[in-house]
Amino acid sequence: MQILVTGGTGYIGSHTVVELLNHGDDVVIVDNLSNSHPIVLERIEIITDKRPDFIKADVCNFEKMNEVFSKYQFDSIIHFAGSKAVGESVEKPLLYYRNNIESTWVLVELMEKYNVPSIIFSSSATVYGQPDINPITEDFSYQCTNPYGRTKMINELFLKDTTVAYPNISAISLRYFNPIGAHESGLIGEDPQGIPNNLMPYITQVAIGKLEKLSIFGDDYDTHDGTGVRDYIHVVDLAKGHVAAVNYLQEHKDTSFLAVNLGTGIGYSVLDIVHAFEKIIGREIPYQITDRRLGDIATCYANPKKAKELLNWEAKFDLEKMCEDSWRWQIKNPKGYVRSNVF
Ligand code: NAD
Ligand code: UDP
Repeated sequence: MQILVTGGTGYIGSHTVVELLNHGDDVVIVDNLSNSHPIVLERIEIITDKRPDFIKADVCNFEKMNEVFSKYQFDSIIHFAGSKAVGESVEKPLLYYRNNIESTWVLVELMEKYNVPSIIFSSSATVYGQPDINPITEDFSYQCTNPYGRTKMINELFLKDTTVAYPNISAISLRYFNPIGAHESGLIGEDPQGIPNNLMPYITQVAIGKLEKLSIFGDDYDTHDGTGVRDYIHVVDLAKGHVAAVNYLQEHKDTSFLAVNLGTGIGYSVLDIVHAFEKIIGREIPYQITDRRLGDIATCYANPKKAKELLNWEAKFDLEKMCEDSWRWQIKNPKGYVRSNVF
C-alpha cells in the first residue's frame, strides 16, 4: 500500500515508518521538521534498506498538501504531525488549536477530494483525564484537562462526524498510553529539545550525566509505593499497532470511526521504572522526592482488550526491554540526532 505518514520524522512516526517499510508498504513522509531532524531519513534507510519519499511541508498548508495528494494515490494516511507538550498548550492555545486541528481538517478535505479511504489518528490517553477507575476502556467519557488534550478530543469528534457524513472514509483513533524505548539498533529514538518533560528521557539523561538528578513528582499518591503509575509501552510495539490499524481498515471498509487504546495493560510506578532502569545500567539513579506536578494524576493504565480483539495486536516488549533500548539510544546519541556518535 502507499501510505502518507505526516510527522514521519518524529519519535513515533519514524518507528512506524520502519515498521511500514518492513511490512512492504511504500511510504511518503510529510513533516515540517519543527520538532525533528532530517538525519532520521538516513537512519531509516540504514535500518530498512529503503528510503521513504520525503516532502518538507506544513500539513496545515492546504495548497502544498493538495500538490502532494495530486502526485500520489494514497491508500491510507497515518497522521502523527502535531504539537504535543501539555504545558506549552496552556501557554499557546492558538498554536495548538491551529496546528492540531487545522492539519486534520486539511487531510480529511483532501481525502474526500482524492478518494483516500482511511486515516489513522494519533490520540492520547490524556483524553480520559483523571479516570475514576483503572484499567481504562475506550467507552470512558472524555475528561480532558488541558488544551492539548482538548485538541485530541476535538479531532476525534471531527473524525466521527466526517466519517458518518462521508461513508467512503474510515478512521481509527489510536489512544496511546506512555511510549518509551527506541528501535533496538539505537539509530532512532526520542530526541527531546531542552530539558525533557517526560520520565524516561529524564532518567536516561541523568544516567549519562547530562542532568544531575531526577525529581520524582510526589510520593504520596494512593499507589503501591506512593509514586504515579502509568502504562509504559515500547515505541516499536506502538508502531506495530499502526500497521495493524491500517490493515484493519483495508479489510473493513464499512468502518466509520473507532477509538482504540494502545497500551500494555500494566501499570508501573515512577520508582518501578527507576529501579528497572538501575538494573540495566548496574548503578543507582540519583533522585529526590519533590512536590506533585500540577495536573498529574495518580494512576492511568489501559485495558488493551479492544486492540487485541479488533486489530489482533498486543504489546510484546517488557519493561526490561524498554529500559535497555532507551539506554542504547541514549549512549549512542548522547546529544540527540544533531551531534551523535553514530555518524
Ligand atoms: P514528535 O514531535 O516527535 O513528532 C511529531 C512530528 O510532527 C515532528 O517531526 C514535527 O516536526 C512534525 N510536525 C508538527 N507539526 C507539523 C505540521 N503542522 N506539519 C508537518 N509536520 C509537523 O511527537 P511524537 O512523540 O512522535 O508524537 C506523534 C503524535 O503522537 C503527536 O500527534 C502526539 O500528540 C501524539 N502522542 C504522543 C505521545 C508521546 O508520549 N510521545 C503520547 C500520546 C500521543
Ligand atoms: N515524572 C517524574 N519526574 C519527571 C517526569 C515525570 O516523577 O521528571 C512522573 C510523572 O509525575 C508521572 C510519570 O512520571 O507520574 C510519567 O510522566 P510523563 O511526563 O513521562 O508522562 P505523563 O503520564 O505525565 O504523560
